[in-house]
Amino acid sequence: MIKTISYLGLGTMGSGMASNLLKAGYKLTVWNRSVEKCEPFARKGARVADSPVDAVRDAELVMYSLSNDQAVEEVVFGAKGILSGIREGQIAIDMSTVLPAMSLREQKAYAKRGVDFLDVPVFGSKQESADAKLWIMAAGNKAVFEKVKPVLEHLGQTIHYFGKNGNAAAMKLVGNLIVALELEALAEGLVLAQKAGLDLSTVMEVVKVADFRSPLLVSNGRNILKRNFSPSFALKLMLKDADLIAKFSESLKSPAPALRVVQKNLESAVAFGFGQENASALIKALEKEAGVEVRARQARRSTEAEQND
Ligand code: NAP
Repeated sequence: MIKTISYLGLGTMGSGMASNLLKAGYKLTVWNRSVEKCEPFARKGARVADSPVDAVRDAELVMYSLSNDQAVEEVVFGAKGILSGIREGQIAIDMSTVLPAMSLREQKAYAKRGVDFLDVPVFGSKQESADAKLWIMAAGNKAVFEKVKPVLEHLGQTIHYFGKNGNAAAMKLVGNLIVALELEALAEGLVLAQKAGLDLSTVMEVVKVADFRSPLLVSNGRNILKRNFSPSFALKLMLKDADLIAKFSESLKSPAPALRVVQKNLESAVAFGFGQENASALIKALEKEAGVEVRARQARRSTEAEQND
């Protein structure tokens, strides 16, 4: 049974997962590039490592959630990276959203050192990570998956096993293609509703109950109407994922024409300076083009009052 874990990358997703590992009673070591994010974990009894190589010293299981392929490149393959310290018998799992080709590269590099590797990306965002309600996918050796599964059960509400390495990373990109198109659909729909003069709160009431409803549309729609774009899933990460999906679908000659449109809007939103906001700020690119701002009547009235003061 796994008892000692190292968690690297304490961003939006990693911090929630690492907290839940501490709550579950694992002996935890943490590492983050910006060291201040380690402080709350140190206060709760985690060991703070000063480099990835130091972090993996005495862990049975090494887990990481990093921004993108470049970050994985540095933290895993770089000088003082995980690979320079990890030893035979340890297990590594990558929970970042990366190309399946990166997962396969990681698996090969770990195998050379006698280390087992799983790609374990997740669905869900900041709240689901904090509440241990993630939807988890895993791929790699089945026996290794069974060893790691009790740990993952402390982080998520579902766990799906996808077979060989790279498949869970592929599933994550399939899911995020759907997420990207849902966000685009919501943004286009709300801008059109605003232009048509509909009451947007009533629009969202219909979106909540109709046969095309989805929790993602409801939560993002509600926040757009409140003009709350604080990041659970940063827009710049959505653009990163759109670029990964484009690369992946091209490599398989699988058509993704609608994704191109979303990519373009995400690029414009980043160019306007909204990259650090939530992915739903994608709507701001359309609002600029349409010359409107989508918000609930109540919120609109109070802004107008502020402007008249
Ligand atoms: P985040 O809040 O931006 O955190 C990113 C983490 O990666 C931070 O710990 C950051 O360190 C680290 N990092 C970035 N570049 C690095 C580098 N070159 N070297 C070392 N560390 C580096 O991102 P997140 O939202 O937690 O997402 C993490 C991963 O999960 C991403 O692959 C994302 O696509 C995926 N994901 C996110 C969500 C979501 O809703 N947020 C949902 C599912 C999957 P610093 O603190 O020093 O910047």
